Formats: sequence, C-alpha cells, structure tokens
Amino acid sequence: MTRASSFSEPPKKHLGQHFLHERGIIDGIVRAVDPKPGDRLVEIGPGQGAITFPLLERHGAMTVIEFDRDLIAPLTEQAKPRGELHVIHRDVLSVDFTELAGDGPALRLVGNLPYNLSSPILFHVLDHAAVVRDMVFMLQKEVVDRMAADPGSKVYGRLSVMLQAYCTVTPLFDVPPGAFRPPPKVDSAVVRLVPRAPQDIGIDDATLFAHVVRDAFGQRRKTLRNALSRQCDSAAIEAAGIRPDARAEQLPVADFIRLANSLTGAAA
Ligand code: SAM
Repeated sequence: MTRASSFSEPPKKHLGQHFLHERGIIDGIVRAVDPKPGDRLVEIGPGQGAITFPLLERHGAMTVIEFDRDLIAPLTEQAKPRGELHVIHRDVLSVDFTELAGDGPALRLVGNLPYNLSSPILFHVLDHAAVVRDMVFMLQKEVVDRMAADPGSKVYGRLSVMLQAYCTVTPLFDVPPGAFRPPPKVDSAVVRLVPRAPQDIGIDDATLFAHVVRDAFGQRRKTLRNALSRQCDSAAIEAAGIRPDARAEQLPVADFIRLANSLTGAAA
C-alpha cells in the first residue's frame, strides 16, 4: 500500500482523535444505524474509517465530513473497493446540512464525535433538524447522561432541555476507554437522537426559548423569579402556570416551552 493510501499520521489530540478499534462496539453502532435502501448516510469525523467502512460495505454509498486533511487521501483510497464515498473536507460546523440534503430524503447522521466540539456540533445539527431523520452519536458518557436527564436529576440542565425539546433522546450503550486508540480519559456512550416533527415541538420563538432556558439555568441556585428577572416578572411566570419560586432544575421541558410561548405572546 502506498503512503497516500495508508493512515500514517499519529492521532491528533487537538482534533479529538480517538479511533475506535473494538469490533463489538463498531458492530453495535452499525446495528444501531441499520441502514435501509434509499437512506442517506452522513458521517461526521470518519477518522480512519472504523465506522465508515463497515457502513459503506453494507450500504454501498455514503457521505463523510472530515476536517483533517491527512486523512482524506487514505480514506478515499481505502473506500474505493467498498462503495461510493463522498468526502467533504471541511469543518463540520461550516457545513450547511440543509443544502447538503437538498430535495432528497432527510439525512441519517452518524459519528464518533470529537469530544471537544460535541456541544457546538449538536447545536449546529439542531439548527438543521428539519432535514435530519435521526442521529447515532458517540459522545462522552457524562454528556449523554446530561442530554437524557429528567427534571430533578443532578445533571438536568440546559443541554437536557434544549435537546429534549427538539429530539427524543435514547441512550443506547456505554463504551469504555479501552475501545479507542488512544484511549480517552473518560467513559463514552452511544445515543440515538430523533428530531421531533416541527408541529410536535410547539415552540413559537426558538431564539426566545433558547434565551429563557439559558438564563433559567445560568443562575442554577436561584428561583425562576430571580433567574428570569431580565425576561419577565413573577406575574408572567404565574400566568404560564408555573410557580415563580421553582428552580429551573425542577421544571419539565413542557413548562419551559409554555413559559417561553407565553412571553412571545406578551412581547407581540
Ligand atoms: N470515526 C472515527 C472512529 O470512530 O474511529 C474517528 C472518531 S474521532 C473521535 C473524531 C473525528 O472527527 C476525527 O477523525 C477528527 O479528525 C474529526 N474532526 C475533528 N474536528 C472536526 C471538525 N471540526 N469537522 C469535521 N471533523 C472533525
């Protein structure tokens, strides 16, 4: 094999490169995606192809988005006998998924995400949720726990509310550090996210909703009355059917939506 077609560079820490090598975990991710004819698969951060190649062999075609130029030639080369790989050499945060989806079917995203960028990537993808059918992502276990947390849990916070408002969040399985080379310092977990249909979300003003959630959790120990004093007064909170002396960590997602919507109405 020529140098161009082999992965000869050491893993790059600043790009969050921890390459999966454990067969059972890779198979578990492929099973979770379970591609069907006609699906449009897009992988974020294919790295050395641990998930890409088995998916490509099964599905025949997919798109990958990879930022590390050293990986592009070997990925392209090694994909050739396996199927049709469309490689986008870009920072995923600059990829317009709506444009990528075009008039075709909604995208199915998969990725063992670079952990230093996992929240920005999640929020970027959520901006394009209308063209995303589902996502199977590997993340830090601690992040998956926060995403899936229920009100009252110690880790229920802004990420839980923002994710659960727009998606169903289903943790699938945990992954130990030893499944990667080099091993990360933390445990990982695979999660499935399915964007809700726009009519089921019921948020009138996405920006206002995001601000209410941010401010409510920005002052975690404060009551909603104090944490949201910039947005509204006690009467407005009460008018949405919520106790002003409640704390954000006790409030179900539906209450955040109702509160933000009542403020949208008030501002109009
Ligand atoms: N999928 C491979 C695996 O499971 O072995 C690699 C996963 S590794 C944790 C994360 C991958 O994301 C690396 O290939 C890294 O180069 C890539 N990456 C990091 N930052 C990125 C960015 N901003 N845009 C696209 N890819 C990025």
